[in-house]
Amino acid sequence: MTKFVFVTGGVSSSLGKGLTASSLGRLLKSRGLRVTMCKLDPYINVDPGTMNPGEHGEVFVTDDGGETDLDLGHYERFIDESLTKMSNTTTGSIYSNVIAKERRGDYLGKTVQVIPHVTDEIKDRIRRLGSLGADVVIVEIGGTVGDIEIVPFIEAIRQYRRDAGRGNVCYVHLTLVPYLAPSGEQKTKPTQHSVTELRSRGIQPDVIVCRSDQPISEGLKRKISLLCDVPANAVISAVDAPSIYDIPITLHEEGLDRIVCDTLDIDIEEHPIDLSIWRSVVKGVHSTNRTLRIGVVGKYVAMPDAYLSVAESIRHAGFAHGAKTQIEWIDAEMVPDQIGADVLRQLDGIVVPGGFGERGIEGMVATAKIARENGIPYLGICLGMQVMVIEYARHVLGLSDANSTEFNSSSSAPVIALMAEQVEVTDMGGTMRLGAYPAMLTEGSVVARLYNATVVSERHRHRYEFNARYREQFEKAGLQCSGASPDGRLVEFVEDPTHPFFVGTQAHPEFKSRPDRPHPLFDGLVGGAAQRAEGREPHIFAPDEVPTFS
Ligand code: GLN
Repeated sequence: MTKFVFVTGGVSSSLGKGLTASSLGRLLKSRGLRVTMCKLDPYINVDPGTMNPGEHGEVFVTDDGGETDLDLGHYERFIDESLTKMSNTTTGSIYSNVIAKERRGDYLGKTVQVIPHVTDEIKDRIRRLGSLGADVVIVEIGGTVGDIEIVPFIEAIRQYRRDAGRGNVCYVHLTLVPYLAPSGEQKTKPTQHSVTELRSRGIQPDVIVCRSDQPISEGLKRKISLLCDVPANAVISAVDAPSIYDIPITLHEEGLDRIVCDTLDIDIEEHPIDLSIWRSVVKGVHSTNRTLRIGVVGKYVAMPDAYLSVAESIRHAGFAHGAKTQIEWIDAEMVPDQIGADVLRQLDGIVVPGGFGERGIEGMVATAKIARENGIPYLGICLGMQVMVIEYARHVLGLSDANSTEFNSSSSAPVIALMAEQVEVTDMGGTMRLGAYPAMLTEGSVVARLYNATVVSERHRHRYEFNARYREQFEKAGLQCSGASPDGRLVEFVEDPTHPFFVGTQAHPEFKSRPDRPHPLFDGLVGGAAQRAEGREPHIFAPDEVPTFS
């Protein structure tokens, strides 16, 4: 029988509902349960694919090509399972289905209403996910209880307990317990109000997780227990953690997984917890003996969540190398004028991540040039690979007008172009290549050695491709196409094997890194950075020389 946990949030957004849900997922998985997760997002966009990453953060791509909320990245990294587009539902996708059904006449002349038609559609999505073999489905509801848009979702999950049966549903509510300095006290009133709001919609939480900057005392837990009508052991203190990877351990020590299992009639004697893998991750996080500085040169650096999976992948690789990775967020538009070669040379490694649109492109091209000429380890991801190719074409092949047709449609050397613009192939024109695609790697290449494989699969999200017409010219000059689609037509990886680490991929490897299994390409970058840090003279900045990155 599949069990369901619903995680709601109150008081404020950004309390870390996604991380709480993910941590719970990890704990239940560590008890030997099969766990899957999903996010219900109350906004009207059909999916986050069209949302500006500078506002909404990264679009996380699943193997099946879903463009999903960044919380799915936390889910995958914490529960170590690959999810599908079924794990992200928005109001927009619910309504578009309901409206399509109405147009088809599926409702047999009935008036179509929020209850039951919209709520049924929401419950259907949850039920379908539950039918795929998981023991526990954890459902995070985006937004905050009290939001206008959240109401149909709260109603649907309220009904769900009746449908699935009492012992099969657990409601976890996340709130904030602020510390008020003038009175020197932690305050429970926002939690009380938030629980009252939830109850007004018919949901009595089984567990209340309280975010706070200081641990919540037993006395305060008793007070919340009394006022919000949950047992004292169901009030969980989620104090700010030194790293996100500490959260599962903190929540376990507070008894979160135990109380959730009790509510779901899961016998914890039958499912003892084994946190050994996770504890070794946490050990890796805290036992770093040096710092490597990795620059991420992109256009959304004011909103680092836009590159969340890239940042986590860099960190994972750091754990594996016993290194703390300090990420320098560098605005591509500041390169090379405000941030030039002298400053970038102080970095141990550089990542140019994915992106769309022209802004910052010339700064990224300049970054690739500086990295190539100075032997700075460089990983180009999707757009980051494309700028690497453009740079190489301009400065090594001498094609000074080289560009992607995304940025200059009349370039005389379109080294990156839509498939439809490239001579032989016309079948993929204009469409976004989304989701997992296999690639064949050249035996003995840098990438094949890193992956320790010659057939790999990575997730994609882009329209433009390396223009195969130029392949031979690049390879003669030294930039090798070391991985391609199985039919050989799409270049997936490029590298300069004579450089300490100069690798680009058309894919998005950052979506597949795990805290205990760094992605091979990030591993390669950070390995190269570690070598560079060793070989490089330690540089002491003069006071007027200290670089400001963003
Ligand atoms: N804008 C480029 C393209 O569409 C790169 C996309 C990306 O980096 N995700 O091909």
